[in-house]
Amino acid sequence: MPNPAPSPFLNHITQTLAQIDADGLMKSERMITSAQAGRISVNHEGVTHERVVNLCANNYLGLADHPALIAAAKGAMDDLGYGMASVRFICGTQDLHRQLEARLARFLGHDDSILFAACFDANGGLFEPLLGTEDAVISDSLNHASIIDGIRLCKARRYRFANSDMADLRTQLEAARADGARFIMIATDGVFSMDGYLARLPEIRALADEFGALLMVDDCHATGFMGPQGRGTPAHFGVQADVMTGTLGKALGGALGGYIAGPQPLIDLLRQRARPYLFSNALPPAIVAAGLAALDLVEAGDDLRAQLFENAAYWRAGLADAGFGLLDGAHPIIPVMLGDAKLAQAMAADLFQRGVYVAGFFFPVVPKGAARIRTQMNAKLTRDDLNFALDAFKAAGKATGVLK
Ligand SMILES: *Cc1c(COP(=O)(O)O)cnc(C)c1O
Repeated sequence: MPNPAPSPFLNHITQTLAQIDADGLMKSERMITSAQAGRISVNHEGVTHERVVNLCANNYLGLADHPALIAAAKGAMDDLGYGMASVRFICGTQDLHRQLEARLARFLGHDDSILFAACFDANGGLFEPLLGTEDAVISDSLNHASIIDGIRLCKARRYRFANSDMADLRTQLEAARADGARFIMIATDGVFSMDGYLARLPEIRALADEFGALLMVDDCHATGFMGPQGRGTPAHFGVQADVMTGTLGKALGGALGGYIAGPQPLIDLLRQRARPYLFSNALPPAIVAAGLAALDLVEAGDDLRAQLFENAAYWRAGLADAGFGLLDGAHPIIPVMLGDAKLAQAMAADLFQRGVYVAGFFFPVVPKGAARIRTQMNAKLTRDDLNFALDAFKAAGKATGVLK
């Protein structure tokens, strides 16, 4: 078929794209031609760069290419096939799915859990069945897009508090109570992924208890490595969340899959009512089996976690000594603050030429004027990798004028 004549609609779309580009906000994708790992091969403009140090994956424990996960996935494919060709409740539930749900629940300290295709879907399906027009959701302003969308899909009244601002959270709780809310749920990321800041869970829990509210924590950037045995930010702070969501797509192997963990009746109701669960395909056996293998490694993974945090401390100190502006913190997300989107892009491009793969983050994922390069540590990076990357950062910082 010949292309149709340009329509006003497509002209409008093309102009929007041109504006994104003119603002320096266009995202482009580089092609990785190896497994996800500490060093990767990347094809860019027809040239393959080998052994590039990768500082932008959520591969915190380095499990994305772990032989035990690959073997578990292969074994499950041999025994249980490739796909489920069904949602869970029709004919898409294998014993393995229930094993993983029970295992995740035990690991996180909850009665049960329920799997989704992704945490995006878990957050999309969580609120609508649990809360109605009589209820209230109070959401941190920096919460992940999937929490924001999930809240949009539910009929509860919405309240928002400034990121980690406990006085504002109290104000919103008071407003929700004054508006006559039946149930109130506070929703927060466990870790705010653009900054690497932890939610102030002890204070949030205390406020939730004071106002009789529920606490929901999305722990995508923590499960597997924060807290004792990697049980996440609530465990890190020694507090209990009423509901947790999380992903298999980051530290727990990095493939895909999400979940909600919580009290039995809540999980039971979600199995009846959560739309992304009811109307989307079951996870394939390979993913589920590898998820179980990932939990084996995580539960026995004190050495991996120690290496991750040792790397993070070394990397943070190295960047600070070089004179880069960082945000304070102890999480393996370590953002290098640059301000301008184009500068972040230029610095990322320069670093790539020096063999270090990082991504510039800019509007709309961070506020305008707060562009940054978000670096992330993983347990498999060696001291040599980190020194190589530090030298590259220093050189790129001088080349782009970020460092004097
Ligand atoms: C990555 C992330 C998600 C989405 O997880 P997927 O499983 O990739 O859909 C949701 N919430 C937070 C806080 C995340 O960091």
